Amino acid sequence: HEIKNPLVALKTFTQLLPERYGDPEFRDTFFNLVGHEITRIDSIVNRLLGFARPVAPSMVRVSLHRVLGDSLQLVKQQAAGVGVSVERRFDAASDVILGDEDLLKQAFLNFLLNAVEAMPDGGVLGVTTAQTSAEAPDAPGNGPRERIVVSIADTGKGIRPDDMQHVFDPFFTTKSTGTGLGLSVAHGILQEHQAGIDVSSEVGLGTTFSLSFPLAGEQEERSA
Ligand code: ADP
Ligand code: MG
Repeated sequence: HEIKNPLVALKTFTQLLPERYGDPEFRDTFFNLVGHEITRIDSIVNRLLGFARPVAPSMVRVSLHRVLGDSLQLVKQQAAGVGVSVERRFDAASDVILGDEDLLKQAFLNFLLNAVEAMPDGGVLGVTTAQTSAEAPDAPGNGPRERIVVSIADTGKGIRPDDMQHVFDPFFTTKSTGTGLGLSVAHGILQEHQAGIDVSSEVGLGTTFSLSFPLAGEQEERSA
């Protein structure tokens, strides 16, 4: 569907080209549209290929606070531009997880950009971390495994209850220029990191995504 729309536009204009070629305005529009639509298809296909054929993540010790901070840095400008203020509170005492920094950054960026995009008239982007313990589902009986929970909260438009179950579906978007790939890619990345995802949202009030990562154990920390 995403690729089909630009293709239909290209086809329609190409069919009109022979009879309208003498019209300079048409030619201008045509050349603009071709460039624009081809770039769009190209980026969709690139993202799809990246999505379908993920490179093996390299899991090493990373400081989640640093990766989060770097990701925030990348959206700071865009947030300020629409009157979104950033409130960060990194409370977790430990923040070392086993992860792939580039992939994590990509996932965080997708959440952060969505949050900013949900607040076109300004608001607050809250990014916090906290430490929790929970029984490890992969090794029950081994006692609680410490986790770090990253919350990305916005005071934006919120997600309609009907849409909630679809937000992680590839190509699901409610934006006129959205691709619907951000959260599906982020979801895949979080799975690679054994991260849990929780979403709560209220239309007109805002949305919070909570992502919980297992902290790296002492052993893992020492051996890395
Ligand atoms: P895109 O941003 O291209 O639309 P995503 O996969 O990133 O695709 O998000 C899918 C959809 O989930 C969005 O179109 C939007 O409807 C919804 N969504 C995601 N994050 C938020 C948010 N923070 N606030 C409101 N809606 C959101
Ligand atoms: Mg997005």
